[in-house]
Amino acid sequence: MNTWKNNIRMVVPYVPGEQPKKAGVVKLNTNENPYPPAPGVKAALENFNTDSLRLYPDPDTKDLAEALAVYYELKYENVFVGVGSDDVLATAFMTFFNSKTPILFPDVSYSFYSVWAELFRIPYERPALDSEFKMNPKDYYRENGGIIFPNPNAPTSVCEPLDLIRDILDHNRDVVVIVDEAYIDFGGESAVPLIQEYDNLLVVQTFSKSRSMAGIRIGYAMGNRELIDAMKNVKFSFNSYTMNRFALDIGIEALKDKQYFEDNLAKIISTREEAVKELEKRGFTVLESKANFLFAQHSTHYAGDIFRFLKERNVYVRHFNLPRIDNYLRITVGTEEQMKKLYEELDNYK
Ligand SMILES: *Cc1c(COP(=O)(O)O)cnc(C)c1O
Repeated sequence: MNTWKNNIRMVVPYVPGEQPKKAGVVKLNTNENPYPPAPGVKAALENFNTDSLRLYPDPDTKDLAEALAVYYELKYENVFVGVGSDDVLATAFMTFFNSKTPILFPDVSYSFYSVWAELFRIPYERPALDSEFKMNPKDYYRENGGIIFPNPNAPTSVCEPLDLIRDILDHNRDVVVIVDEAYIDFGGESAVPLIQEYDNLLVVQTFSKSRSMAGIRIGYAMGNRELIDAMKNVKFSFNSYTMNRFALDIGIEALKDKQYFEDNLAKIISTREEAVKELEKRGFTVLESKANFLFAQHSTHYAGDIFRFLKERNVYVRHFNLPRIDNYLRITVGTEEQMKKLYEELDNYK
């Protein structure tokens, strides 16, 4: 009876942060950018030729990949474009992590990694970060089937220096090492220049956070041509047309306005530094952040209680019921006004 059930791929899915439907929520729970995308994006949408929707989009995503290559001083063949970095990372897992030896990623890191590993049946191990949530490069000296970590790390906001990444690469020339740079624009040092030196390094970035475009779904990977070609072959074996015509057009527009981009980042960084002080005043310890969010622990109150209190008052932050981090809140840096509302509600908390 019901033996068909034996052949179902049973997985426990990744659970993204809540997207509340009600109005008036101060939404500091999914690391979205509180400011709009570059003004050119709006103009591009208004001028979009809807007749072109009859036609399939460019499966090679050539124009956007070229624009990214110019931006990062790479070549077109060094760039892979996908539907948000989640899609790019999933493709990379499928393409590069096919060893029977476990892949490695930190015990506290992006919780999607273990979900993909389970989905694709990739064995994995999670070396523990130290008590300050820093990586010990020596944990990655052992034999493995590949390495992935976010830098800055999510959900901790901690950024590792390029020296550490170089150290890990020097000890792992025989596997693919992926650095997930979803938050790198908020003050970290990117590993992109190391691509020229290490043919086994893949760097993944996204338009979702620093470019205020989580809703359009654009992510990209950068690496040597053989890595990128291998990812393209996997993509073309699965779905040739992942990127739609809107996204391809708008992505190019978003890259053009450097001034807007930099002003936007500067505002968020300044609000972040202010927020550290405001939270410390209220009894929180805050990890040093190079991202658009803070990871904070209160000296006397349990994070889960503060989380629920804030939520009742329409201030949404993120709380993870996971080992080691269940007494932390992850707070996205919003506008000055949103942050004021957060401080007000924290002051109301008894
Ligand atoms: C947000 C995030 C992503 C995914 O972003 P996309 O919206 O899919 O581009 C990937 N990695 C980390 C660490 C993130 O925080």
